[in-house]
Amino acid sequence: MPGITPEMETAYQELQATVLAKRPNEDTAVLRKAFEFASLKHAPQTRDSGEPYMLHPLAVAQTLAEMSMDMVCLLTGLLHDTIEDTETTAEEIRKLFGPDVERCVNGVTKLSKINLHNREDRQAESVRKMLLAMVEDIRVIIVKLADRLHNLRTLSSLSRERQERIAAETIELYAPIAHRLGMGKLRAELEDLGFQYLDPPAYHEVTEAIEVKRQANEQVLDEIRDTVLVKLAEEHIPVRVQARVKRPWSVYQKLKKQRIDIDQVYDLLGVRIITDSVKNCYAALGVIHNEWHPIPGRIKDFIAIPRPNLYQSLHTSVMGPMGVSFEVQIRTEEMHRLAEEGIAAHWKYKEGKKGPAEDDQRIAWLRQLVEWQREMRDPSDFMSNLKVDLYPEEVYCFTPKGRVVVLPREATPIDFAYSIHTDVGHCCIGAKVNNRMVPLKHGLRNGDIVEIMTQNGGQPSRDWLSFVKTTRARNKIRHVINATEREKSVELGQKLLEREARRLGVALSRITRQQMEAVATEYGCAKTEDLHAALGWGKFSARQVLSKLAPGVVEPETPATPATPEAPAYQPERDRAGAAAKDYVIQVKGIDDLLTYRAKCCNPIRGEPIVGYITRGKGVAVHSKGCPNVQNLMYEAERRIEVEWARGARESFNVRIIVHTDDRAGMLNQLTQILFDEEVNIRSVEAHADEKQFDSAIVEMTVEVRDKKQLERVVSAMRRVSGVRDIERVH
Ligand code: MN
Repeated sequence: MPGITPEMETAYQELQATVLAKRPNEDTAVLRKAFEFASLKHAPQTRDSGEPYMLHPLAVAQTLAEMSMDMVCLLTGLLHDTIEDTETTAEEIRKLFGPDVERCVNGVTKLSKINLHNREDRQAESVRKMLLAMVEDIRVIIVKLADRLHNLRTLSSLSRERQERIAAETIELYAPIAHRLGMGKLRAELEDLGFQYLDPPAYHEVTEAIEVKRQANEQVLDEIRDTVLVKLAEEHIPVRVQARVKRPWSVYQKLKKQRIDIDQVYDLLGVRIITDSVKNCYAALGVIHNEWHPIPGRIKDFIAIPRPNLYQSLHTSVMGPMGVSFEVQIRTEEMHRLAEEGIAAHWKYKEGKKGPAEDDQRIAWLRQLVEWQREMRDPSDFMSNLKVDLYPEEVYCFTPKGRVVVLPREATPIDFAYSIHTDVGHCCIGAKVNNRMVPLKHGLRNGDIVEIMTQNGGQPSRDWLSFVKTTRARNKIRHVINATEREKSVELGQKLLEREARRLGVALSRITRQQMEAVATEYGCAKTEDLHAALGWGKFSARQVLSKLAPGVVEPETPATPATPEAPAYQPERDRAGAAAKDYVIQVKGIDDLLTYRAKCCNPIRGEPIVGYITRGKGVAVHSKGCPNVQNLMYEAERRIEVEWARGARESFNVRIIVHTDDRAGMLNQLTQILFDEEVNIRSVEAHADEKQFDSAIVEMTVEVRDKKQLERVVSAMRRVSGVRDIERVH
């Protein structure tokens, strides 16, 4: 076979043997196919060491095989650099090796393209989370970790600068991911190799110090191990014991963090006791504590309370022979396997079990995750970090400068803007996602680059509240809106009070500030302004307040009989006397210009009976009396207010009408002629065939009328046109 050197063939044979040792029935034909395919593609390439490039993917696959990973994973290992470094296309891989392998190879390629050099350090955690979240299949991460491991093992031929960069990235990014996924063995090797290149002098110093301690205590360690074996055998506890020395990177971390000397590291030396059951773990702990003095505060029960990455073990430090302290870790075989392999332990090929679906394992793994989650004391930690697309409750977006912003799922550019800065949120007027304009309610996705457009002096819109997802954005928007609404309420309340005072003959000018404040206090308001606001919000009526301010002049209100049968019994004064109501008036056009508006639901026009309703902070809404909403709104009788059309004002109202007609030529012309004759402006008109009814048409138009009378004239003229069947006004 061209392109395959003897060393490559040897490496492949070793790979195949490893796979078959774990799974004798595995069909390795496809493995061979991937090996030959990748060898051909990488053929002329060499690594920096001068070796054929293909030895690298082979080594990655070997690591994965040793972790008992499945065939998809192994094939991905062999093919992981083909798309990035050769002419190979994703389609080719899909055709030859199926969609799973294609997805995984694509995933690894995608990861290697993420540029991590410019990121700020404090964002490291977010980047880690982002990587995990962006990966659809956790096998992508596992392959990436195996890839990184081999890169580190062969780092010596690279330039010092590249060594440092790769080492730093490993320590900051890949080792923590391995840790999070519970892959203790891989993490340890990544850290120690990374350490070696990141800070060679420190690495050698620590390694030497550890070695000195180890040699000095070799006999003690042997003695301890023998004692443990004997004592536990006496108690019929089946165990195997490993002597262990703390790893250079974690010793270094400890020395740095706690500013201590290597002699003060209690857990530098230790033994690991692996037994068969949880019960025997605790039994073994008892035996150990009986034999040696435990160091107070050093006993940790990670069996009862597993670490966030699901690590389980009992830890204790004891004073051993000759005053040498050492650490004992006690765990079951299963816990040991999990501690070493982590998530990979759950990705294993299940022998003899052919699942009905190919993703049987995926489902099993998912089930396992859900079970873990249930058992976790702090589920937020492990699970929220292990976010493949199965748990997509967060999205990770970037500013154009590469800063990572973590947001909840479905978050919008507004949320993004507020998480950058409050002012950016307030002034947001538009957003670009990946260089394209999007609506402000657009849902952001993982990896989006979001650019916020702002305008000085901008103000948040109330509509935003209906789609923002973060509490922060919601609170900030509310804050501004409340402040604006309060201003309006104060203004409206003050006017309501003045108007009512004039009507009832109370001279407000004669009422002192003290009197005013006393009444405000009575209503539970700290200041007069608060009382005005409460009036403007419709909490109290102006008449009530005036009856307290001028007790002799204004009588307190008495409950009145409801005006309409469906209105509640407690409805007070306003419907009581028609005479009073007549001059109890706020004109639609008048001093409250700014504070009244025609309700959109019924869109009343001049001449129609209308009623006002004090909204919370938006002024007076004017409804048509026939509006169905009015019946509901008016239950809060305090908010009702009489309004009437201001005299003499010239204005027009948009009205939308629908005319149902026969489908015949000239109809539209006749209808518009009527409007023309009445000097009614047409804002829009649209005619189309009625799909529901044969031979009929619908004309929809928006026209400007002066008042109800004019509208009535127009409508009756239209009704007289032959062929017009029906006319309706829509809101
Ligand atoms: Mn690679």
